[in-house]
Amino acid sequence: MREKSVKFTEDVKKRIKYAIEQAKGNEVFFKGLVNEQKIIWDVEVLARGNQFSVPACLCDLEPGDVVIHNHPSGELTPSAADINIAAKLGADGIGFLIIDNSGEELYVVVEPYFPSEDIPISLESIQKILGEGGRIACHLENYEYRQEQIKMAEKIALSFNNQQHLLVEAGTGTGKSLAYLITAILWAVKNKKRVVISTNTINLQEQIMFKDIPFLQRVLADKFKGVLVKGRSNYLCLRKLESLETDSLLEDVDEDLSQLKALKEWGLKTTDGSKADLSFLPKETNWEQVCSEGDLCLKVHCHHYKDCFFFKARRESATADILVVNHHLLFADIALRSKGLESGVLPKYHCIVFDEAHNIEDTATTYFGYKINKYLGIKQFTRLFYTKGGKQRGFLIDLNYKISSDKHITPIIKGRVNDLIILELIPQLGEMVKKTHLFFDNVYTLLNGNSKVRLTPAFIETAEYKDVENQCVIYIQELTKFIETLKKLLSTLEEMPSKAFEGLLPQVMELNAYIKRLEGVAETLDYLFLKEVKGDVKWLELSGTSKNRYVTANSAPLDISYQLNENIYTVYQSVILTSATLTTGGNFHYIKNRLGLNLCQYKLEELILPSPFNYKEQVLFCVPTNLPEPTQRDFELEIIDNLYQLIMATRGRAFVLFTSFKLLNETYEKLKPLLEDRGINCFKQGEMQRHLLLQNFKKDISSVLFATSSFWEGVDVQGEALSNVILVKLPFSVPDEPIVEARQELIQQKGGNPFMEYQVPQAVLRFKQGFGRLIRSKEDRGVVVVTDKRILTKTYGKIFLKSLPQCNELAGDLNRVTETIVDFL
Ligand code: SF4
Repeated sequence: MREKSVKFTEDVKKRIKYAIEQAKGNEVFFKGLVNEQKIIWDVEVLARGNQFSVPACLCDLEPGDVVIHNHPSGELTPSAADINIAAKLGADGIGFLIIDNSGEELYVVVEPYFPSEDIPISLESIQKILGEGGRIACHLENYEYRQEQIKMAEKIALSFNNQQHLLVEAGTGTGKSLAYLITAILWAVKNKKRVVISTNTINLQEQIMFKDIPFLQRVLADKFKGVLVKGRSNYLCLRKLESLETDSLLEDVDEDLSQLKALKEWGLKTTDGSKADLSFLPKETNWEQVCSEGDLCLKVHCHHYKDCFFFKARRESATADILVVNHHLLFADIALRSKGLESGVLPKYHCIVFDEAHNIEDTATTYFGYKINKYLGIKQFTRLFYTKGGKQRGFLIDLNYKISSDKHITPIIKGRVNDLIILELIPQLGEMVKKTHLFFDNVYTLLNGNSKVRLTPAFIETAEYKDVENQCVIYIQELTKFIETLKKLLSTLEEMPSKAFEGLLPQVMELNAYIKRLEGVAETLDYLFLKEVKGDVKWLELSGTSKNRYVTANSAPLDISYQLNENIYTVYQSVILTSATLTTGGNFHYIKNRLGLNLCQYKLEELILPSPFNYKEQVLFCVPTNLPEPTQRDFELEIIDNLYQLIMATRGRAFVLFTSFKLLNETYEKLKPLLEDRGINCFKQGEMQRHLLLQNFKKDISSVLFATSSFWEGVDVQGEALSNVILVKLPFSVPDEPIVEARQELIQQKGGNPFMEYQVPQAVLRFKQGFGRLIRSKEDRGVVVVTDKRILTKTYGKIFLKSLPQCNELAGDLNRVTETIVDFL
């Protein structure tokens, strides 16, 4: 026997043994993931059966992986068929191992591929592509040589070459996306390793996927593949669609019927099976009935596996050099890996480029936190059982029916299953639904009329909270009893004779998934209401619509720097973080601190690149000085008249950006009739979908858009339609927001100054984003007006001013400001 060069972790050994036992000791083929220490840390069942069933499943493998299978006899010498498959896999860098049924004995037929040293990218190759007279210049009609773009690409190349991380702020117009894409492509192709490009907005993703990548595929000498990866729930599950077809649900006449029928018809025709391919937006509850879900997926046991849309997309991404994803998906992947769970979201990657990196803290906070409300709990019960039109439906009813009509199952077992479902589970489940409503209704009372309540140490000592805490203990006990009954049902299924068990494998997997989900609900409740957790903030929040209000309990980590360092910077060889807004007051201190980059300073490089636009020529920056400060009572009264004057100075063509919906709505209601009298149309955030709103705004040159937080960034309006950006207040976070408040307290406990170290820099980054809406091209010209004079009167105002590019500045009374605006334009 050969020396063991690769090893299993103990957990992997147990999982292998369990899967083989489940397959009654027959052959099982696994895909194994190997780390740099040659340890197999994760396995996934590829197929059960013999070698001939394997090739169909091999397209999901990549260099560095291993295929493992057992020889039930315990004789590990490879057969001729083994050698045949091993040779094919070996040529692709995939290892091949044979084990005994215990997973203890191991025969390495082919070693997995362990990468040699990376091949560096030469800076010359970047010049040849991005430089004057280079490939891009020859293919792009309006090509502009941008020194900053080349500097950025070269610095990224050095970071890839030296396995370093890079923080790079590049002003608007640098051509960031081409700079990182070209470098990532050169490196990925040369080294046969994958790079992930992660963005915050769909706009940027679409630009990369549908404009930049196709252009580079025409221009670059290296052939490469770029794939847009979407989350699993974006894909249709053919198995669910099939059960929807046979489900008598469709005989019912109700409001969802036509949409479910439309989904069914689309499902039979669609070629990519992704939600984006639908010509209508389905109701979330209807889409959930047909979309793919990780824990309910039967994978290789599904008879649709070969044609499955999700797995087809996954196989596509496994052959890509560049993966384009959004931050949410990437963090879903990172969060799964951090919990040691199956690597189900993205194929293996080595480097990450985060664009719009100023949003990372918010996205990561969501993924490392918890949330629960009554609907998240009840959803699991109603999937198991519900009644509709007087008929009983759901997984338990379907299961009982399937078992009762299976001729391989004895009447005794049929009777046991029927008793468990009809006499125990369904009545218990009805009670659990009632108890879930009751528990969360009691939690709701803790809000006491507020939209958010933080669970501070003082709050959790109140009698009202203690009462809810006791109810939570009882609720978890009841839920655990119900889970135990589900487990009894599961054991009954697992004890069935093998013929019957094989036919019930999908149901066994599904039941297991429901058990895990309900255990997850119990764990989340325990974590949110009963556990004392240091380093997290917990709060209750009003959710839903005005017709259906309910309470959601949440938790979020106060500091994600350690998680980011542990799960990203120490795992991936090179991480590039870029955005037009990463520095405050001219340095990276704030972002490095928040994102944990100071923990890996030893391998971090930094670069600040100014925008190539001529802001001195293109922008007039004004602060009216005769307005009250926003903290003064008359600010909100006076702002209406002042905004009218400022908007009329540019004859509309303006964005008015607020920090609260309340002031936005009040102002809009008052200004709309006045402006419309002067022939200026007004649009307001929320009155139509964002892209339609922007389309209409761009078309109607003199119109005005009133908007709040989400329009401070990611909006690109070039040309005359946007000549005036009015920032009504400096965009400070609401200080009593639970996360903001708790993060500030933490800074204070550590002896810092929360206002200067957290609130000000956070507001500066948002302010820079708001300012950046104005100039989107070399031809744009216009004014940015800040109607919050604290930028001049407060000490911290200097940090805001210092963070802007140099432009024409004017501070004076409103009349002078409006006159100067008229002259400037
Ligand atoms: S493999 Fe999974 S996602 Fe695909 S059709 Fe089957 S159950 Fe659905």
